[in-house]
Formats: sequence, C-alpha cells, structure tokens
Amino acid sequence: MPNGTPLLELKHIHQIYTSGARKFTAVEDVNLTVSEGEYVALLGPSGCGKSTLLRILTGLQKPSEGQVLYRGEVLQGVNPHATIVFQTFALFPWLTVLENVELALKARGLPAGVRTPRALDLIDRVGLDGFENAYPRELSGGMRQKVGFARAMAVEPELLCLDEPFSALDVLSAESLRGELLELWTSGSIPTRAILMVSHNIEEAVFMADRIVVMDKEPGRIIAEMKVPLPHPRQRQSDEFRALIDEVYALLAGQTQSESEELGAAPGEAGRVRSLPDVHIGDLTGLLEHLAEKPGDQADIYRLTEELTLDSDHVLRLSEAAELLGFVTIAKGDIQLTPLGETFAEASILARKEIFATRIRRLPLVRWLTGMLQRAEKHALKDEVVKMALQLEFPPEEAEKQLDTLINWGRYAEIFAYDDGSEEIYLESAPEKAAA
Ligand code: ADP
Ligand code: MG
Repeated sequence: MPNGTPLLELKHIHQIYTSGARKFTAVEDVNLTVSEGEYVALLGPSGCGKSTLLRILTGLQKPSEGQVLYRGEVLQGVNPHATIVFQTFALFPWLTVLENVELALKARGLPAGVRTPRALDLIDRVGLDGFENAYPRELSGGMRQKVGFARAMAVEPELLCLDEPFSALDVLSAESLRGELLELWTSGSIPTRAILMVSHNIEEAVFMADRIVVMDKEPGRIIAEMKVPLPHPRQRQSDEFRALIDEVYALLAGQTQSESEELGAAPGEAGRVRSLPDVHIGDLTGLLEHLAEKPGDQADIYRLTEELTLDSDHVLRLSEAAELLGFVTIAKGDIQLTPLGETFAEASILARKEIFATRIRRLPLVRWLTGMLQRAEKHALKDEVVKMALQLEFPPEEAEKQLDTLINWGRYAEIFAYDDGSEEIYLESAPEKAAA
C-alpha cells in the first residue's frame, strides 16, 4: 500500500534531558521516514525514547537538535494533521460516549447539524453501536479505549500515532480493538494516510505493521529495521508469520552469526550437537532482572558471582544460557543485556513464557524432541526412551542432565509437559501440523 511519498521525516533528531545537574541523551541521531500508506511500528524496551519521539514528531516537544519535516516542510509548532492515541484515554466522565466524541468535532469547528451524524458514524465504526448514550463509567476498559479511538478518528488525522494503545487492555479487548483498527485502516474507510504505532509487543507489531523499526536504549536510537511483507489478514499460526517473528527476535538479540553455526546440530544430524547449559529458569530470570537494574544493563561477569552469591561455574552456565537464548551478549568478561533480554526482563509472566518459547523452539535439541513427540503415538514418550536416544550423543550422566533441562525449559515454555506418574513427556498442545 505505501506509495512512497514521504509524509513525515525525522532528520538527525537528538533529545537531551537534564535532571538536576545530570544531562543525558534520551534520543540520539534518529532518522526515520514514514511514507503515505505505511503502517510503521516502533519497537523497543521502555526508556528508549519512543514516547519522546512521538511528542517530537507531533510537534508537542521541540528536539534538542534535528528537524521534523511534514510533507516536505519544516514543522513549526504542533502538527494539526497528527493525533496521538495514548495507552489510556482521558474521557470526560460527565459526558456520554456520543458527547465525548462530538466534543472533538466541535473543537474542529464543525456545525452542530453535522456533528451528531458524524459522531454516530464513528461510534458505529469502532464497534460501539448501541452505547452512544452510555457514560464512561459504564464501559469496560476496552470500550473506553474504543471511544478514545473514535475521538482520535473524529479529528481525521492524516498521521495517526499510537502510543502502546493496547497495552492497558485485557487480552480479549486488545485483540478485538486491533481487529477493528486494521479493518478501518485496510478498508481505506478513514482518511488516515499513515500510522505510527509504538509497541512493546513483538507479535502485535508483526501482526499489524508494514515495517518494524527496532530501537535500543542508553542512548535511545534506531538499531534495525525490517519489512513485514505479509498481506492482511495475517495468520498468526502460519509459517511465514512465525518466521518473521523469529526474525524480529533475532534483530532484538543482536544476532550476527548464522543460526546453524551458532546453535549446532540436532541429534542424528551432521555436525556437533551443542548441549544445553544446565540451569533453572528461576536463576536465569534472576540474572536478567539483576542486569536490568544495572546502569547500562551490563556487568563484569566475575562480579556477578559476589552480587548473586553464586559460584562462578553456575554464573558461567547462566551466562551461557542467556547468550544462547539471545538475552545477553558477552565480550571481554562483560555481560550485557540485548534489547530482547531487556524486553524479557520487563515482560509479564505470560509474555516471558511466549518470548522464552519462541527462543527455545529454534534450539536443535528442542526441535529434535518436538519432532520425535509429533511422530510418537499420542504425542507422548517415556522419559527413558528419550534418555536412551540422548545417550547416542552424550555420555550417560550428561544425557540425564540434558533431559532434565529439556523438560524444565520445555515445561516453562509450555511446549512440553511431563507426567510424573507415567514418566512420560508429551507435547503440551496439539501439533499445528502433522510431522513430515
Ligand atoms: P519510552 O516511551 O521508550 O519508554 P520515553 O521517551 O518516555 O521512553 O523516555 C526516554 C528517556 O527519557 C527515559 O529515560 C525517561 O526517563 C527520560 N525522560 C522522558 N521524558 C523526560 C523529561 N521530560 N525530562 C527528563 N527525562 C525524561
Ligand atoms: Mg512510552
């Protein structure tokens, strides 16, 4: 859909904030163009300057350095063609849904006779038909956010900016509102020419946007970009969709080596089988949270042994696991969180499981066990059977450890389940497709 005409251009944007005597660079040399017809997602850990950029590009804030161009002209003051939808919407509690939306139209100077039918139409389009006369307190969070969207739409912005618009909603409301927005956007029934959405949620970005711009913090800057060339409606379970998700994860993990080089082979394949570091999830998340609290999200590995009161062997295994999963990079004795590691450390329990699952599905040993289970009767195998298969690759003691780690990680990720009674490992969910 993009037709290539730049709508918005950010050129060498820097933002320096001062707090007390301290000066820090919140945004460093950001260059970004959003063209007509584009839906762009900005993805990055909190504090990387996403909201700052939205304020700058809508003219609510003047950058310390750099230029904002709108339709090729230098932006002066607030951009009247742009609107921001925030995470939570401030509605006037004493006004009905209809009145809240009409107010936005009134502010644009529309005459009373035009306002009401226009507001009713907007309310209808965001799926709130029948709630025109309800008051905000009578609505769920999701419905209130829909009123927010209707109000943003009432302004008929050419550039619609969304600052984590779904993150305060429950899962179902978020999903339905995403659907409504995509419907409005892809059907061309709103005059919006481009959307810029700030998100925290990797899957949401791949589901909605045409292009994903990845940022990192300290200082806030753009580190990577990728296109999402899938047509709407997108199928979350499709191979193409999963492959793009994996690509975003790899970008966030700062991965440079090819996957096969880095991860090794699966049992039975040519090449070396890389064993899984024997660590527990709780310790791993503890390490990541600890790093997230540090300035620059980094530490000397040797210091960690004291700080976490763990022996150095344990710290090394934890670091190795975190690196294998793309949560940290290790160089010259320093360990540092990647944007993916930061995202994990900040995420809710459910989102952590999702990130973890996505990362371990690519590990050869996990792929191998998943494949065996898919081929097995009832998708279940005795742990003894799996251990024997592992003993073809590893010495007995190591095979046992590998099996424990596989079960421990797979259970957390909700990929595998384990029945203590029957001592069987099985696939947590029905396989999406029959094994080849
Ligand atoms: P994000 O939206 O990605 O979480 P923000 O743009 O809100 O990031 O913030 C980027 C960084 O700038 C953070 O470290 C934040 O604390 C800081 N910051 C944001 N606004 C101000 C401000 N008005 N004054 C000082 N520091 C700020
Ligand atoms: Mg923000």
